[in-house]
Amino acid sequence: MSLIVQKYGGSSVGSVARIHAVAEQIAKLAGQGNQVAVVVSAMGDTTDRLVELAREIAPDPDLREMDALLATGEMVSTALLAMALRRLGLKARSWNAMQLPIETTSHAGRARIARIDARQLKQDLESGIVPIVAGFQGRAANGDLTTIGRGGSDTTAVALAVVLEADECQILTDVDGVYTTDPRMVPEARRLDRVSFEEMLELAGQGSRVLHLRCVEFAARYGMKLRVLSSVEPGSGTLICQEDRKVEAPVVSGIAFNRDEAAITVARVPHHPGVAHAILKPISRAAIDVDMIVVNAPREERVDFSYTVHRDDYEKALELTRSATADYPGATVEGDDRVAKLSVVGSGMRTHAGVATQLFETLAMESINVRLVSTSEIKISVLVSEKDLERAVRALHRAYGLERAPSS
Ligand code: ASP
Ligand code: MG
Repeated sequence: MSLIVQKYGGSSVGSVARIHAVAEQIAKLAGQGNQVAVVVSAMGDTTDRLVELAREIAPDPDLREMDALLATGEMVSTALLAMALRRLGLKARSWNAMQLPIETTSHAGRARIARIDARQLKQDLESGIVPIVAGFQGRAANGDLTTIGRGGSDTTAVALAVVLEADECQILTDVDGVYTTDPRMVPEARRLDRVSFEEMLELAGQGSRVLHLRCVEFAARYGMKLRVLSSVEPGSGTLICQEDRKVEAPVVSGIAFNRDEAAITVARVPHHPGVAHAILKPISRAAIDVDMIVVNAPREERVDFSYTVHRDDYEKALELTRSATADYPGATVEGDDRVAKLSVVGSGMRTHAGVATQLFETLAMESINVRLVSTSEIKISVLVSEKDLERAVRALHRAYGLERAPSS
């Protein structure tokens, strides 16, 4: 018998029909002799609608009341799902964060889970009851309702799985797993049977939107196995777990990309210690995140350097950089907000050379210019023109043979 925590996202419980279908699926898993605890999100786009409603009442709504409002969405879906399960003859009970409780820090709208009292849930599981828990919400020390950040139900599910010492935490969603790259861009993209936590963090962090980043970090920290599955089609999905050191890791597992990038290049600033700091300090003061930074080799006591920011921060960063360099005669600032980043990710890169060579060779054959490069142990990222992104991803997907299942 296994103990499984399942999480159903908003679209999976978006209608009465979907709630009944989810109940059938839970009943089947329980019928196979498993203990099942369930976490749900709010139905469909409920949370978005609640946010709009609040804005109609007040342009800048009070944060405590905002959390009180948003937490209602998940309470609706837990109760409805429990009713649907009972109708199938199963014992089921809904639980919200106040009842258990799920204790969080007090930062309204972005609280962090601090402790979960799992006694009620354990009792339910022991007595053959399926507990249905509201995701995304918590209770602060002063008794206020809190929420843990948009998309946070994934994280609630992992936290519950950890305290219940579940065998697996399953995230049921509208895709059937994690792919080698976005199948909407590359039709040959293949579902991965398994990826390591580290690879998933790179794939998720680089803009692949299947899972909440914090939930993967949490699962990695506690070694909780995560599985991404379709809530509609049967299948084994993608298992995200610790790297299996006995099996040779794939050199390249996937390609992630992100279009929301902008690059700024500062040319011919004096090559003195502290110049880069003087230019970047106003950027961090303005709470703008800098991603890639590249400093070129100095020539004649002058140096060029480039950095990237989110496209939304581009205008502001450009302006700050222009004023920070105004005192350096001859220095120039140029920017481009039509750039995109792609990242080739794979644990096997640690022990295999040649991944970067193949990347540059492939892009050269496609006549695609590389603007910036950054690497980690298991990732190589390059910045290219946005217009070249799709061609680059397709060519690299082919070059690394990602459409083929790895021979094992
Ligand atoms: N309902 C919340 C949101 O839409 C939490 C979640 O879906 O995980 O952000
Ligand atoms: Mg939602």
